[in-house]
Amino acid sequence: MKPVNEIPTPADLSAFWMPFTANQQFKAAPRILTSAAGMHYRSEDGRTILDGTAGLWCCNAGHGRREIAEAVAAQISHLDFAPTFQMGHPLPFELADRLVETAPPGFKHVFYTNSGSESVDTALKIALAWQRARGEGTRTRLIGRERGYHGVGFGGISVGGIPGNRKWFGSLLPGVDHLPHTLDIPRNAFTRGLPEACPALADELEKLVFLHDASNIAAVIVEPIAGSTGVILPPKGYLKRLREICTQHGILLIFDEVITGFGRLGAPFAAQEFEVLPDMITCAKGLTNGAIPMGAVLVQGPLYDDMMAAGKGGIELFHGYTYSGHPVAAAAGLATLEIYRQEQLLTRARDMAGYWEAAAHSLKGCKHVKDVRNYGLVAGVELEPMAGAPGRRAYEVFVRCFERGALIRVTGDIIALSPPLIIEREQIDQLFNLLQEALQAQR
Ligand code: PLP
Repeated sequence: MKPVNEIPTPADLSAFWMPFTANQQFKAAPRILTSAAGMHYRSEDGRTILDGTAGLWCCNAGHGRREIAEAVAAQISHLDFAPTFQMGHPLPFELADRLVETAPPGFKHVFYTNSGSESVDTALKIALAWQRARGEGTRTRLIGRERGYHGVGFGGISVGGIPGNRKWFGSLLPGVDHLPHTLDIPRNAFTRGLPEACPALADELEKLVFLHDASNIAAVIVEPIAGSTGVILPPKGYLKRLREICTQHGILLIFDEVITGFGRLGAPFAAQEFEVLPDMITCAKGLTNGAIPMGAVLVQGPLYDDMMAAGKGGIELFHGYTYSGHPVAAAAGLATLEIYRQEQLLTRARDMAGYWEAAAHSLKGCKHVKDVRNYGLVAGVELEPMAGAPGRRAYEVFVRCFERGALIRVTGDIIALSPPLIIEREQIDQLFNLLQEALQAQR
C-alpha cells in the first residue's frame, strides 16, 4: 500500500455517501483537505486554509500533534484491542482518573463511548435506569430543548430540537417534551457574552413539570451553549435556575458538553465556567483532540453508587459498546489531556475571549449581518436569509471563505466559529478579515 500522502483522491467520488452533506453538490465541486498542522489545513490544490472550526469543534490543541500520534502508534503496536466487557486493560482506567481530575467536583466515574451521539444516548439510558433503580420507574419522560442538537442516535434526535434532523425519522422515545430555546433576536442582538437574565425562560421547566408531573420525568438535557444549531447562549442565571428546578423535583440534569467540553469556554467544562453542577456531562470530540473517535459520560458519585447498590453484585448496567475504552483511543485521550495540561489550554479561551469578542463584533454593520453572539472561543454570526432560499447566503459565504483560505462552519444562515484553542491574535485578525471580505462580497 502507498504511503497515505501519496494516495490521490479518486476521480469518482460516488461510493462514499457523505454525512450531513449535499452529496451531489459537493461531488460536483469537491473541497478536499489532504493534511493539517497547527492552525491550518492544506487543500488538495495546495492552498493553506486557516481552521476557524477546530475541524468540527474537535481539534482544540490544533492539528498534527506529534505527542498524540506517537501515543497512538505505540499503543496500536503494543495492544491493539482488548475487550472491556468483564475484562480490562490499563489505559481506560488511567484516562478515567485524569478525566475525573479535570471534571467539576463530584464527578467520580466515566462511561466510555465512541462519539457524542453515543454519549447522549448513554446518559439518557443511565438516567432512566437510575430512576428505576431507586424505585421511581414511572419517571420515563425526557426533556430536551427546541433547537438543541444531541447527535443523531434515536435518543439524541428525540430530545434534540432541530426539525430537519427529526422529521424524517419520527421519535422512538415516547413522552419526550421540549423547553423553548433561548435565542431572542432582535431583542438580544449583538449582545457580548451572555444575554441579560430572563427568568421566564427557565421557568418554562416548571410548566412542563406541572403538565407532566415530576413523578413521570427522568431527566432534562441541554447544551450549556448550543453550538451546532448556530451558537445559542443561555441568559444569565438560566442554567442555575434549571438546576434548582431539577433538584426540587428529583429530575436529573444532563449537560451535553460535546462542544463546550475541554476548554472551549475558558474552563475545562461549561459546568465549571457557569458554576452549575449537572448530574451527568456528555463529552467527545476534544477528548482525543479529534484524532481517534471517543466519547464519555461523566457521572456524579451518588448516581454510580446507587446503580452499584441496585446491581446486587451482578451487571449493573446492561449497556456498553465493543469499543468502550478502546486502548488506542484511550492512548490518544491521555496524550491529549497531557497537552491540555502542559499548555494550559483548558483555560486559554478565557485569556483570548476579550480579543475574540472584539474581533467578532467588528462584523456588526457588514452586509446582511443581523446578529453576532460570542462566548469564550465561540462566535455565531447570523445573516438575513435570502428570500425564498434559506441557508443559501451563509453557504455562499462559506464557499467564498474556503476559496480565500479560511474554514468556517455554517448551519442554516448562521456562521459558527470555534477555532483550535491555540489560536493567536494575528490569526484571529486574519480569520475575521477574511470573513468580513466574504460578507462584503455578498449579493
Ligand atoms: N451533542 C452535541 C452538543 C454536539 O454538538 C454533537 C456534535 O456536534 C453531538 C452531540 C454528536 O456528536 P457526534 O457527531 O460525535 O456523534
